[in-house]
Amino acid sequence: MTAGPSQPGPARAAPTEPDPTDAGQADRRPLPGRVDVAILGAGPAGLAAAWWAASAGHTVAVLERSTGPGGLAASFCVAGQRVDHGSHRLHSATDPDILAALRVLLGNDLQQRPRNGRIRLAGRWIAFPLQAGDLVRRLPPSFAVAAMRDTLLAPLRRPRRDTFAEVVRAGLGPTMWFRFYGPYARKIWGVDPDTLAGEQARRRVGANSPAKLAKRVVHGARGGRATFFYPRRGFGQIAEALAGAAETAGARLCYGVEVAALALRPDGVAVTTADGRAVEAARVWSTVPVPLLARLADPAPPAAVTAAARRLTFRSLLLVYLVLDVDRWTPYDAHYLPGPETPVTRVSEPKNYRDGDDPPGRTVLCAEVPCQVGDGLWRSDDAALGRLVAAGLHACGLPAAAPGDVVVRRLAHAYPVYRSGYEGDFTALDGWASAQPRLLTFGRQGLFAHDNTHHALAMARAAADALRPGGGFDDAAWAAARRRFRTHVVED
Ligand SMILES: Cc1cc2nc3c(=O)[nH]c(=O)nc-3n(C[C@H](O)[C@H](O)[C@H](O)COP(=O)(O)OP(=O)(O)OC[C@H]3O[C@@H](n4cnc5c(N)ncnc54)[C@H](O)[C@@H]3O)c2cc1C
Repeated sequence: MTAGPSQPGPARAAPTEPDPTDAGQADRRPLPGRVDVAILGAGPAGLAAAWWAASAGHTVAVLERSTGPGGLAASFCVAGQRVDHGSHRLHSATDPDILAALRVLLGNDLQQRPRNGRIRLAGRWIAFPLQAGDLVRRLPPSFAVAAMRDTLLAPLRRPRRDTFAEVVRAGLGPTMWFRFYGPYARKIWGVDPDTLAGEQARRRVGANSPAKLAKRVVHGARGGRATFFYPRRGFGQIAEALAGAAETAGARLCYGVEVAALALRPDGVAVTTADGRAVEAARVWSTVPVPLLARLADPAPPAAVTAAARRLTFRSLLLVYLVLDVDRWTPYDAHYLPGPETPVTRVSEPKNYRDGDDPPGRTVLCAEVPCQVGDGLWRSDDAALGRLVAAGLHACGLPAAAPGDVVVRRLAHAYPVYRSGYEGDFTALDGWASAQPRLLTFGRQGLFAHDNTHHALAMARAAADALRPGGGFDDAAWAAARRRFRTHVVED
């Protein structure tokens, strides 16, 4: 089931994928003739891998379709303010070595900030991350009593099937399921949560039992206020710093260069771009969506693998930026909106994520509206989406958001959708990719993973670490890393 707009705008030809950068230029310089590693995609995974591989002395070229760095984690300007592709924060779960490396790159620009969000729950605003005192003060008593009863009965509940719906319902109880996770899941992924695999719950819902939820609340009650890291010029400053470091280390970053074909040979790879240029590489590391990788490959994968690739689907996302002529809309960084009153799942106010040099007297909101490429929402025009978002925020009891201007970005591959049975399809595709001697696929899109930026960076670190000085590759180290990646759980 896909959410539809309450006020569909006139259909128009929507771009199939956004250019996530400000106003970069396609790279028209000759591409390097031959490199040790060609990396497809300049999101955090591709950039970090390029930095670390080049720092170890390997020749590296990064080929990126967009005209700048960052992928989903890029920033760009709207009305003079830097904004992200939806709410992005660097979580404190980041590997300490990787965090230390980012601190060196970003210096004091990488700020540690207190989290300050709210969830719309049972018609009330509840602090998110959850706080004990706030829950006591604000949760309706009927909700609190039901949730308490669910907590006591938790040991007696078992999932009846391995679906997202059953795993969350059994873990957190029917109250949280029916009042929060159920409606939220339906909006985010656009399908009945009972048709989603249980793995989606294990990878996406960190606090998936009363004990884990209570641990987080108790941590807050003991004064351990949740914090996050955020650069003063937007989340994309992380990717920009990685890009700078990669170039300094000798990597060649080629923007505006779409990869159109990959000739996979036992001793190397020939990468062809959409404008007919070519790069020879001893190895190719792909961070583009793994179903696309299968389509680019020559020789093509077996028919069963190609069919499996077609069945792996992504949820798309509209990012609707509202420019408001007020200094701040609210003091909060993000509002999470699980209910059916609006198709918006989250609205963030980038100015509140940082202590930066944003212009006074103006703020920009970013509303996240999940959809499917080609559906009514995707094809709505910007003005209609602006009206739809403003009406939805009002319906949730938020302050008026009458925008002076509306800017929309469309992400085709925002969230992997783990439909029941997806494991077989992913295993077939991953098995084919792993059998290609000179090919590695990783990153959020490359492993069809629900992940955070720090997970993508950990994958890049593992890939670079497995590359041997003479150009060989430590398959056993990579296999061990792949097992670690399976433990990655998204932080919200
Ligand atoms: C709405 C939203 C909110 C998020 N919030 C957070 C958060 O708060 N904290 C957090 O840590 N993470 C967050 N994430 C996740 C974060 O964005 C990703 O983990 C991260 O961007 C993954 O990096 P990546 O390099 O693996 O993939 P991507 O960023 O997707 O990069 C892949 C790159 O490949 C390029 N590409 C694709 N096809 C081609 C082609 N044919 N040729 C050349 N290049 C190509 C793309 O243009 C892109 O630049 C969020 C994600 C979303 C969607």
